[in-house]
Amino acid sequence: MRRWLPALAALALASCASTIEPGKVAELPGAVALGDATWLVPGGFEPGRSPDGNSVILRGTAGAVLIDTGRHASHSEAVDRALGALDMPLAAIVNTHWHLDHVSGNLPLKTAHPDVRVYGTSAIDGALAGFLATSAEASRKALAAGQIPAAAVPDVKGDLETIGRGPELRPDIVVDTPHDIVFAGRALSLRIAHRAATERDLWIYDVAARRAIVGDLVTLPVPFLDTACPEGWLEALGDVARSGAKQVVPGHGPVMDRHGFARWRTAFGDFIACARGSGALESCSAGWVAGAAEWIGSDGARAKAMADYYGELIRSKKLDGYCRA
Ligand SMILES: [Zn+2]
Repeated sequence: MRRWLPALAALALASCASTIEPGKVAELPGAVALGDATWLVPGGFEPGRSPDGNSVILRGTAGAVLIDTGRHASHSEAVDRALGALDMPLAAIVNTHWHLDHVSGNLPLKTAHPDVRVYGTSAIDGALAGFLATSAEASRKALAAGQIPAAAVPDVKGDLETIGRGPELRPDIVVDTPHDIVFAGRALSLRIAHRAATERDLWIYDVAARRAIVGDLVTLPVPFLDTACPEGWLEALGDVARSGAKQVVPGHGPVMDRHGFARWRTAFGDFIACARGSGALESCSAGWVAGAAEWIGSDGARAKAMADYYGELIRSKKLDGYCRA
């Protein structure tokens, strides 16, 4: 069953709002406590392996809310272990965007929690017919031609399997416009970014905690620009900055306070401006690595190589199609 969330339904849900009971469970296995009955299950990005996005668990009075589900089984299993320690029903999964490192875990987690409802934007519909279909086709050809390095084959096959079940990744409840909503007693504000990391991203503002959970509007070790409109992304970062958040939870990388987020945003803006300019691309990627050095740490060589790739993607205007309506 799939439906659009009408404003009235959101209001009705909001009317059963109640306060969060703090401190019932402080520690969840494999998760980092962020305070305010909120936990981060960090996504990994080991060399030679595709990334998992961060997942965030929030406890309401009557159930849990999960934001993003990762790519690999190891990640969704870690999420499920943490959920198990809460010992309450999983009421909702909210997907920030359709990238496979954020939605693949929907499949096992929906099996484990059959009553859960998935919320997300309808942008996945276009992706299933476009980007994901095209990349699956390219992956199948590369696999058949033996062009995938042996270490990457399990990830490629896993993604193909997930794309094969694409329709099951679609949200049960489509949220294409901003909504204040209460999931199992937990009040959250769902915000929409147009033409940012994808055609339509969803980010979550927890008003009570002053925490923004922004999916791939903030990523490390580089901005993952594969399906992005750089200028729309910059606009979305402005919205996050104006939200009043004192803490920002990225889609990849560690939690930031508002000053850290401001520094990341500056480094991102400088990288985009540089790549849109006419100077050497080399200086753009070097500038990114310097601007984000506090998070990149010893991962500089890989970050530099990835920033080279994304700089070229911007300069070649290949991303401009994502900026058109
Ligand atoms: Zn991601």
